Amino acid sequence: MTKVRSCLLISISLILLNCATVPITGRSQLSMIKNSELIPMSFKQYQEILKTNELSIDKTQTVLIKKVGVKIQKAVEAYLIKEGQSEVLNDFEWEFNLIEDKTINAWCMPGGKVAFYSGILPVCQGEQGIAVVMGHEIAHAIANHGRERMSQGMITNGLLASLSLVTQNRSALTRDILLQSVGVGTQMGILKFSRKHESEADRMGLIFMAIAGYDPEAAPAFWERMAEISNGPGTPEWISTHPSNERRISDLKKYLPESLEYYKKSNPFSSYSGNNSEAEFL
Ligand SMILES: [Zn+2]
Repeated sequence: MTKVRSCLLISISLILLNCATVPITGRSQLSMIKNSELIPMSFKQYQEILKTNELSIDKTQTVLIKKVGVKIQKAVEAYLIKEGQSEVLNDFEWEFNLIEDKTINAWCMPGGKVAFYSGILPVCQGEQGIAVVMGHEIAHAIANHGRERMSQGMITNGLLASLSLVTQNRSALTRDILLQSVGVGTQMGILKFSRKHESEADRMGLIFMAIAGYDPEAAPAFWERMAEISNGPGTPEWISTHPSNERRISDLKKYLPESLEYYKKSNPFSSYSGNNSEAEFL
């Protein structure tokens, strides 16, 4: 009994000691592993995915993906510096690639490694829609949702109770849980997140795209297009992990006024021109 109790006590203390705060929302989250450990594994996995997939030969679309990616990256960096949270970006090495694949898919791995699949471009319908997806996926990485899922996996696997994490097996165990938690080992390379994570990424994504000079009002329209597709046959996996339903769209509309404040500051001369400056107000 005493043994069980002390294990429980150790577990609770570890949970309390290993917490992080999500930028923008201020939510407290579990963080049982350092980004300096997790991110190099993520980079390795990203390289594997690039090796086993074909990059798009469409120069125009590839340039557009990189352009939107860099604009939102700069917006995120400016925001975090201003908020005194730039340590969130430690170990990040941003990269934006367009993969030739009809799948409707896009993701950002821990550390800022982004992939868009060409199949999502018709749903994006141009730069604004790409910014919606880019903002959302980058938000998952900034909010460290992959690390949080991993940490939850560690707890539920009872690894803490057995304290095996402090043994020499730590790196092998960590890697296994990483692959399970962020789903990068799967064929699709999709990050599977909870509804709470999805909602948080929606809110943060709107703000990031707005700071980058993109009109966040493009987001509900994008998710409505997604909803139409998900009503059709053979729902793609990205849509099944990103359910676009009335609840999501109404939540997005609730978040709009907050992000529009940022948009107005980044675009003092009214509506989106497609050629506006990056986060100058910051
Ligand atoms: Zn998501």
